[in-house]
Amino acid sequence: MSKFLLKKYASLLPYTPGEQPKTGGYIKLNTNESPFPPSEKAREEYLKAFDKLNLYNDPENGALGAAIAKRYGLKTGNVLLTNGSDEALAFIYMAYADAEHPFAAPEISYGFYPVFSQLTGARNVTFPLKPDCSVDADAFVKTEYNVVFANPNAQTGTFMPVEDVERIVAASPERIVAVDEAYVDFGAESSVGLIKKYPNLIVIGTFSKSRSLAGGRIGFALSSEEIVSDLKRIKYSFNPYNLGRAAEAAALGALADEEYFSECTARVKQAREFTRAEAKRLNMEVVDGKANFLLMRSELIDGGELKDRLFAKKIIVRHFSTPYLSPYIRVTIGSMDEMKTFIKVLENILKGAAK
Ligand code: PMP
Repeated sequence: MSKFLLKKYASLLPYTPGEQPKTGGYIKLNTNESPFPPSEKAREEYLKAFDKLNLYNDPENGALGAAIAKRYGLKTGNVLLTNGSDEALAFIYMAYADAEHPFAAPEISYGFYPVFSQLTGARNVTFPLKPDCSVDADAFVKTEYNVVFANPNAQTGTFMPVEDVERIVAASPERIVAVDEAYVDFGAESSVGLIKKYPNLIVIGTFSKSRSLAGGRIGFALSSEEIVSDLKRIKYSFNPYNLGRAAEAAALGALADEEYFSECTARVKQAREFTRAEAKRLNMEVVDGKANFLLMRSELIDGGELKDRLFAKKIIVRHFSTPYLSPYIRVTIGSMDEMKTFIKVLENILKGAAK
């Protein structure tokens, strides 16, 4: 830390992203990416955009905004495009959070929410999960604060039905409700349909998971025109050309390829259900998740040790050392072949641990 850093940032604890190994040869099940490459259409559009990289892009990202609006039955004024959905979340906090206006979040959720709270000087207000690891909708109905949660929730994968989301949004028009739907395409239901009815709802989406474009950094927020104009006020005071031409082109190509999207998400769901059943056969406790990952634990071995033993066999999973999550590993769903290898290796480790 230099002597110039402002005091308010001295205790800031940045988000720690999952490991990206520098060498190959690993089965990478740690950062919830897609195991499948981007769509061929995304590749074509991306390469066409390359020839125009000498020019700035449309700062409104109008073409992609229109395509996303069409897909979700909204108007272009309801869409904000961002450099990954992390940036959409950052803009939401910058626009609406400060010391008097915290966001309430589930105690176990996406690790970036407390970082954004700290960055914007807001208190970190959290509500515990229910005993089955699901988000406690009633706590969010009652709170007077702005609300943010991931649905399916991060780290657990549990899904809150849209009726419960509606109860939360409808409880007070005086607060923002931000629903982070990074993992919605793997079998959960989106709350986007509520946007026309509730101007205080923001739904956040990403091309990083179900559209196989994590490295492209393409995210979006969908909301009422008033909220989107607030968020644009922040965006155009920060970096008006987000997102860039190449990323926008790739996203347009991916969005045009619904067939590939359906095929990839179906394959992930199938591999997830295989993994769930096999992990249960091995006496793992598996949280009831609908995302492209599963949170699981064994009575025989702690999560951190299990992660290390899998790593020694070239399989990378995610482990969080907080007290709640420490017994678990979070396993991204890869291809069926990758998951078969994971189960085989897991079975051997557990056999050894049982002795
Ligand atoms: N929300 C949640 C719940 C996530 O897990 C992630 C990915 N780690 C993000 C948002 C951010 O994704 P991206 O910035 O790649 O769109």
